[in-house]
Amino acid sequence: MARGKAGARNRFDVVIAGGGLVGRTLALALAKLAPKGFQIALIDAEPSEAKGAATADARALALSAATRNLLSALDLWPLLEPKAQAIKTIEITDSALNAQLRPHFLGFDDELKSEGAGAFMVEHGDLQGVLAAAVVREPAIEMRAAERVTDFTADEFGVEATLGTGATIEACLLVAADGKRSKLRERAGIKCVGWSYPQIGIVTTVAHTRPHHGKAVQHFLPSGPFAMLPLTGNRSSIVWTEDSRRGKAIMAADEATFLAELTQRFGFRLGEITLAGRRQSFPLDLQIARSLVAERLALIGDAAHAVHPLAGQGLNIGMRDVAALAETVVEATRLGLDIGAAPQLERYERWRRFDSAFSAAVMDGLNRLFSNDSAPLRTLRDLGLGLVDRAPPLKRFLVREAAGRTGSVPSLLTGAKF
Ligand SMILES: Cc1cc2nc3c(=O)[nH]c(=O)nc-3n(C[C@H](O)[C@H](O)[C@H](O)COP(=O)(O)OP(=O)(O)OC[C@H]3O[C@@H](n4cnc5c(N)ncnc54)[C@H](O)[C@@H]3O)c2cc1C
Repeated sequence: MARGKAGARNRFDVVIAGGGLVGRTLALALAKLAPKGFQIALIDAEPSEAKGAATADARALALSAATRNLLSALDLWPLLEPKAQAIKTIEITDSALNAQLRPHFLGFDDELKSEGAGAFMVEHGDLQGVLAAAVVREPAIEMRAAERVTDFTADEFGVEATLGTGATIEACLLVAADGKRSKLRERAGIKCVGWSYPQIGIVTTVAHTRPHHGKAVQHFLPSGPFAMLPLTGNRSSIVWTEDSRRGKAIMAADEATFLAELTQRFGFRLGEITLAGRRQSFPLDLQIARSLVAERLALIGDAAHAVHPLAGQGLNIGMRDVAALAETVVEATRLGLDIGAAPQLERYERWRRFDSAFSAAVMDGLNRLFSNDSAPLRTLRDLGLGLVDRAPPLKRFLVREAAGRTGSVPSLLTGAKF
């Protein structure tokens, strides 16, 4: 299938299966940067209408500076910035649940100031809303909501994706952005390595009487990390990892019991707290696809890798996939190359393979190191955290790493349009 023949209703340059945060951002990056005439089909299983408060995603997301740069390059950051809260300082503690005091073992303060804000908190619905509105404005994107890609076949000429209705669409490249349970990855025969954690992630929003001053706090507790992440106003997003059995009981508890459990972990430093959003829980897995590509198929986002949320990196890693794949596809298009051919897919895979596997391993290692009540382990890790705390160059490196500024960085992550 030759590039440049797109345009008919069932023929596109790229078909993206999955219109979550990652799939939508890729569609926008391609629409804005690829040469005129480039056509994108974005297929999403969810209906397009905005979700009501009762079913909206309760997550807030920590966006790295690199993700903010990508959104800036796509002219989206100015729309999101009024709703974003900069993380100005980070404090990390390591103690038992019933500890009276949670001594500070590691902090990032001067490093965040010298490197610029390392991260911004945004609510899932706000980011999704900005992306959805931008997709509607983009004539190069044909969005099909409440529709699924159920199958595909590929050969040297192109790929044909089959939809749930039985209709087919053709393209040069199919992108699987269909999340952690990706059917397209399975259909391509790509296996994953990984496991499920015996933990769940509980998410909610609280309002408090005192200001947070942009401070993010991560308490490493024996059953898992408990993060208090600043949102706009006197509000914080909670990402609370809990042992699965206890977590399910906490999720099923009445509001007063839930709030009491929350307060025990949150503490009183921000005054009185009240629930300011619904509670939602997520199963947690580590999952890395053994390959990021197959014939005329590229995996991005959670379809390629799902990581423990303890450092708020899952979406950021997915956005790094977006930047690398967009750059690969746009450059190939400008050179008149077949965007779905093996050399292009191999370039994408080489670019992303190490970073995604390394990031998943680091999150897994941290969760294992901290999610236990072993006194000797606590002594050792607190010694380690104390040493890091007294090594400013290492802290600056960690801030740059979390901001996605190390390694071979695609242009979009530096905020540059290429
Ligand atoms: C508790 C928690 C907190 C987190 N906090 C952070 C954080 O602070 N920072 C961060 O960077 N990351 C965070 N993450 C990770 C982040 O939420 C995910 O990495 C990200 O949302 C994945 O987006 P995605 O678009 O790849 O996948 P998804 O959001 O799963 O989207 C997949 C989409 O594909 C659609 N779909 C599925 N199958 C098909 C099909 N066959 N055809 C068409 N469409 C299909 C689905 O309907 C869905 O819309 C957190 C995760 C959890 C669980």
